[in-house]
Amino acid sequence: MKIIQIPLLRDNYGYLLVCEKTKQAAIVDPSEAEPVLRRIAQEPVTLTAILNTHHHRDHTGGNEGLLAKQRLKVYGHKSDRARVFGMTDGIDEGDEIQIGEIKGRVFFIPGHTTGHVAYLFENNLFCGDTLFTAGCGRLFEGTPEQMQGSLKKLMALPDDTKVYCGHEYTESNLRFALSVEAKNPQLVARFERVQGLRTRGLSTVPSTLEEEKLTNPFLRWDSKEIQASVKSANPGARGDPVSIFAAVRKMKDVF
Ligand SMILES: [Zn+2]
Ligand SMILES: [Zn+2]
Repeated sequence: MKIIQIPLLRDNYGYLLVCEKTKQAAIVDPSEAEPVLRRIAQEPVTLTAILNTHHHRDHTGGNEGLLAKQRLKVYGHKSDRARVFGMTDGIDEGDEIQIGEIKGRVFFIPGHTTGHVAYLFENNLFCGDTLFTAGCGRLFEGTPEQMQGSLKKLMALPDDTKVYCGHEYTESNLRFALSVEAKNPQLVARFERVQGLRTRGLSTVPSTLEEEKLTNPFLRWDSKEIQASVKSANPGARGDPVSIFAAVRKMKDVF
Protein backbone atom coordinates (compact mmCIF):
# COMPACT_ATOMS: atom_id res chain seq x y z
CA MET A 1 0.00 0.00 0.00
CA LYS A 2 1.01 3.60 -0.53
CA ILE A 3 0.43 6.39 1.99
CA ILE A 4 0.32 10.03 0.92
CA GLN A 5 0.40 12.62 3.69
CA ILE A 6 -1.64 15.75 2.87
CA PRO A 7 -1.12 18.89 5.01
CA LEU A 8 -4.50 20.49 5.78
CA LEU A 9 -5.65 23.63 7.58
CA ARG A 10 -2.92 24.98 9.85
CA ASP A 11 -1.36 21.84 11.29
CA ASN A 12 -3.64 18.91 10.42
CA TYR A 13 -2.66 15.91 8.34
CA GLY A 14 -4.97 13.90 6.12
CA TYR A 15 -3.71 10.60 4.73
CA LEU A 16 -4.53 9.10 1.37
CA LEU A 17 -4.27 5.30 1.53
CA VAL A 18 -3.87 3.67 -1.85
CA CYS A 19 -4.21 0.01 -2.81
CA GLU A 20 -1.55 -0.10 -5.50
CA LYS A 21 -3.04 -3.14 -7.18
CA THR A 22 -6.60 -1.86 -7.69
CA LYS A 23 -5.79 1.90 -7.42
CA GLN A 24 -8.68 2.30 -4.99
CA ALA A 25 -8.03 4.85 -2.28
CA ALA A 26 -9.39 6.10 1.05
CA ILE A 27 -8.80 9.40 2.78
CA VAL A 28 -8.25 9.48 6.55
CA ASP A 29 -9.59 12.63 8.28
CA PRO A 30 -10.19 15.12 5.45
CA SER A 31 -10.25 18.45 7.33
CA GLU A 32 -11.17 20.18 4.08
CA ALA A 33 -12.05 18.91 0.61
CA GLU A 34 -10.16 21.09 -1.87
CA PRO A 35 -6.53 20.15 -1.07
CA VAL A 36 -7.56 16.48 -0.98
CA LEU A 37 -9.25 16.71 -4.39
CA ARG A 38 -6.22 18.53 -5.83
CA ARG A 39 -3.85 15.83 -4.54
CA ILE A 40 -6.04 13.01 -5.80
CA ALA A 41 -6.13 14.63 -9.25
CA GLN A 42 -2.35 14.09 -9.43
CA GLU A 43 -2.63 10.35 -8.72
CA PRO A 44 -4.05 7.56 -10.87
CA VAL A 45 -6.47 6.55 -8.11
CA THR A 46 -10.20 6.30 -7.44
CA LEU A 47 -11.37 7.57 -4.07
CA THR A 48 -13.86 5.12 -2.58
CA ALA A 49 -13.98 5.90 1.14
CA ILE A 50 -13.52 8.41 3.94
CA LEU A 51 -12.15 7.11 7.24
CA ASN A 52 -12.92 9.51 10.10
CA THR A 53 -11.15 8.95 13.42
CA HIS A 54 -13.57 11.19 15.35
CA HIS A 55 -16.23 13.85 14.87
CA HIS A 56 -14.21 17.05 15.35
CA ARG A 57 -14.61 19.48 12.49
CA ASP A 58 -10.87 19.58 11.76
CA HIS A 59 -11.11 15.84 10.96
CA THR A 60 -14.46 15.74 9.15
CA GLY A 61 -14.80 19.23 7.64
CA GLY A 62 -14.07 17.93 4.13
CA ASN A 63 -16.67 15.14 4.15
CA GLU A 64 -19.40 17.32 2.68
CA GLY A 65 -17.25 18.71 -0.14
CA LEU A 66 -15.96 15.26 -1.09
CA LEU A 67 -19.45 13.74 -1.03
CA ALA A 68 -20.74 16.57 -3.23
CA LYS A 69 -18.51 15.21 -6.02
CA GLN A 70 -19.12 11.48 -5.69
CA ARG A 71 -20.60 8.66 -3.65
CA LEU A 72 -18.22 7.39 -0.98
CA LYS A 73 -18.34 5.07 1.97
CA VAL A 74 -17.89 7.06 5.17
CA TYR A 75 -16.58 5.22 8.22
CA GLY A 76 -16.69 6.41 11.82
CA HIS A 77 -17.54 5.02 15.25
CA LYS A 78 -21.13 3.78 15.34
CA SER A 79 -21.94 6.10 18.28
CA ASP A 80 -21.10 9.15 16.14
CA ARG A 81 -23.66 8.74 13.35
CA ALA A 82 -25.25 12.06 14.26
CA ARG A 83 -21.89 13.86 14.46
CA VAL A 84 -19.96 12.60 11.41
CA PHE A 85 -21.35 14.03 8.17
CA GLY A 86 -22.50 11.40 5.69
CA MET A 87 -21.57 8.34 7.73
CA THR A 88 -22.56 5.16 5.91
CA ASP A 89 -20.74 2.54 7.98
CA GLY A 90 -20.76 2.73 11.78
CA ILE A 91 -17.83 0.68 13.04
CA ASP A 92 -16.48 -0.61 16.33
CA GLU A 93 -13.55 -2.42 17.94
CA GLY A 94 -12.28 -5.35 15.85
CA ASP A 95 -14.17 -4.49 12.66
CA GLU A 96 -12.39 -4.98 9.36
CA ILE A 97 -12.25 -2.43 6.56
CA GLN A 98 -11.25 -3.13 3.00
CA ILE A 99 -9.83 -0.63 0.51
CA GLY A 100 -9.27 -2.42 -2.78
CA GLU A 101 -7.26 -5.42 -1.64
CA ILE A 102 -5.79 -3.92 1.52
CA LYS A 103 -7.39 -4.76 4.82
CA GLY A 104 -7.51 -2.60 7.94
CA ARG A 105 -8.57 -3.19 11.52
CA VAL A 106 -10.52 -0.85 13.79
CA PHE A 107 -9.59 -0.01 17.38
CA PHE A 108 -12.06 1.76 19.64
CA ILE A 109 -10.02 4.28 21.64
CA PRO A 110 -12.26 6.73 23.55
CA GLY A 111 -10.89 9.55 25.70
CA HIS A 112 -10.33 12.57 23.47
CA THR A 113 -13.96 12.06 22.39
CA THR A 114 -16.36 9.28 23.30
CA GLY A 115 -16.45 7.93 19.73
CA HIS A 116 -12.78 7.95 18.73
CA VAL A 117 -11.35 5.10 16.63
CA ALA A 118 -7.96 4.23 15.12
CA TYR A 119 -7.36 2.35 11.87
CA LEU A 120 -4.47 -0.10 11.44
CA PHE A 121 -3.40 -1.06 7.92
CA GLU A 122 -0.41 -3.42 7.93
CA ASN A 123 1.90 -1.70 10.45
CA ASN A 124 0.51 1.78 9.85
CA LEU A 125 -1.64 3.20 12.64
CA PHE A 126 -3.92 6.17 11.98
CA CYS A 127 -4.81 7.36 15.45
CA GLY A 128 -6.26 10.87 15.01
CA ASP A 129 -6.12 12.94 18.20
CA THR A 130 -5.62 10.11 20.69
CA LEU A 131 -1.92 9.26 20.45
CA PHE A 132 0.15 12.15 19.08
CA THR A 133 3.82 12.07 18.26
CA ALA A 134 5.32 12.86 21.69
CA GLY A 135 1.90 13.66 23.13
CA CYS A 136 -1.78 12.76 23.41
CA GLY A 137 -5.08 14.52 22.80
CA ARG A 138 -6.95 16.54 25.37
CA LEU A 139 -9.70 14.84 27.34
CA PHE A 140 -12.67 16.69 25.84
CA GLU A 141 -15.31 14.03 26.43
CA GLY A 142 -13.68 11.04 28.10
CA THR A 143 -12.08 10.23 31.45
CA PRO A 144 -8.40 9.70 32.27
CA GLU A 145 -9.20 5.99 32.81
CA GLN A 146 -10.60 5.73 29.28
CA MET A 147 -7.72 7.59 27.66
CA GLN A 148 -5.04 5.69 29.54
CA GLY A 149 -6.80 2.43 28.61
CA SER A 150 -6.92 3.49 24.96
CA LEU A 151 -3.22 4.39 24.93
CA LYS A 152 -2.39 1.08 26.60
CA LYS A 153 -4.33 -0.73 23.90
CA LEU A 154 -2.26 0.99 21.20
CA MET A 155 0.99 0.28 23.09
CA ALA A 156 0.30 -3.44 22.75
CA LEU A 157 0.93 -3.18 18.99
CA PRO A 158 4.41 -4.10 17.70
CA ASP A 159 7.25 -1.58 18.28
CA ASP A 160 7.74 -1.02 14.55
CA THR A 161 4.14 0.22 14.14
CA LYS A 162 4.19 3.60 12.42
CA VAL A 163 2.24 6.32 14.20
CA TYR A 164 0.31 8.60 11.83
CA CYS A 165 -1.48 11.14 14.00
CA GLY A 166 -3.82 13.99 13.15
CA HIS A 167 -1.58 17.01 13.77
CA GLU A 168 1.98 18.31 13.44
CA TYR A 169 2.49 18.97 17.15
CA THR A 170 5.73 17.09 17.81
CA GLU A 171 8.01 20.03 18.58
CA SER A 172 5.74 21.70 21.12
CA ASN A 173 4.86 18.31 22.62
CA LEU A 174 8.56 17.61 23.10
CA ARG A 175 9.04 20.95 24.91
CA PHE A 176 6.48 19.80 27.43
CA ALA A 177 8.00 16.29 27.59
CA LEU A 178 11.38 17.80 28.49
CA SER A 179 9.75 19.75 31.31
CA VAL A 180 8.77 16.49 33.03
CA GLU A 181 11.61 14.16 31.96
CA ALA A 182 14.65 16.29 31.16
CA LYS A 183 17.13 13.50 31.93
CA ASN A 184 15.77 11.06 29.34
CA PRO A 185 18.60 10.87 26.76
CA GLN A 186 16.32 9.52 23.99
CA LEU A 187 13.99 12.44 24.57
CA VAL A 188 16.82 14.98 24.33
CA ALA A 189 18.02 13.35 21.09
CA ARG A 190 14.50 13.30 19.63
CA PHE A 191 14.02 16.99 20.37
CA GLU A 192 17.22 17.84 18.48
CA ARG A 193 16.21 15.67 15.54
CA VAL A 194 12.70 17.15 15.41
CA GLN A 195 13.96 20.73 15.63
CA GLY A 196 16.22 20.00 12.67
CA LEU A 197 13.27 18.71 10.63
CA ARG A 198 11.01 21.64 11.55
CA THR A 199 13.69 24.21 10.73
CA ARG A 200 13.65 22.77 7.22
CA GLY A 201 9.84 22.79 7.17
CA LEU A 202 9.64 18.99 7.07
CA SER A 203 7.03 16.70 8.61
CA THR A 204 7.91 14.83 11.82
CA VAL A 205 5.08 12.33 11.30
CA PRO A 206 5.06 9.32 11.30
CA SER A 207 7.07 8.18 14.27
CA THR A 208 7.23 4.60 15.51
CA LEU A 209 5.52 3.12 18.53
CA GLU A 210 8.97 2.25 19.90
CA GLU A 211 10.00 5.90 19.77
CA GLU A 212 6.76 6.87 21.52
CA LYS A 213 7.25 4.33 24.28
CA LEU A 214 10.75 5.72 24.88
CA THR A 215 9.93 9.44 24.81
CA ASN A 216 6.18 10.19 24.99
CA PRO A 217 5.37 11.33 28.56
CA PHE A 218 1.76 10.11 28.23
CA LEU A 219 2.95 6.52 27.80
CA ARG A 220 5.61 6.72 30.51
CA TRP A 221 3.66 6.39 33.76
CA ASP A 222 6.35 3.84 34.80
CA SER A 223 9.19 6.39 34.51
CA LYS A 224 10.67 7.28 37.90
CA GLU A 225 11.56 10.76 36.68
CA ILE A 226 8.01 11.45 35.49
CA GLN A 227 6.57 10.09 38.73
CA ALA A 228 8.91 12.45 40.64
CA SER A 229 7.87 15.43 38.45
CA VAL A 230 4.20 14.66 39.15
CA LYS A 231 4.87 14.35 42.90
CA SER A 232 6.74 17.63 43.07
CA ALA A 233 3.95 19.47 41.21
CA ASN A 234 1.15 17.76 43.19
CA PRO A 235 2.52 16.43 46.50
CA GLY A 236 -0.71 14.51 47.24
CA ALA A 237 -0.80 12.71 43.87
CA ARG A 238 -1.34 8.96 43.80
CA GLY A 239 1.27 6.79 42.11
CA ASP A 240 -0.85 4.34 40.09
CA PRO A 241 -0.62 4.52 36.27
CA VAL A 242 -4.02 6.20 35.72
CA SER A 243 -3.30 8.87 38.37
CA ILE A 244 0.18 9.56 36.96
CA PHE A 245 -1.27 9.79 33.44
CA ALA A 246 -4.09 12.11 34.63
CA ALA A 247 -1.63 14.37 36.45
CA VAL A 248 0.69 14.63 33.44
CA ARG A 249 -2.30 15.45 31.20
CA LYS A 250 -3.37 18.21 33.63
CA MET A 251 0.17 19.63 33.68
CA LYS A 252 0.16 19.73 29.86
CA ASP A 253 -3.24 21.48 29.82
CA VAL A 254 -1.69 24.48 31.56
CA PHE A 255 1.84 24.29 30.11
ZN1 LIG B 1 -9.99 16.23 17.96
ZN1 LIG C 1 -7.65 17.53 15.66
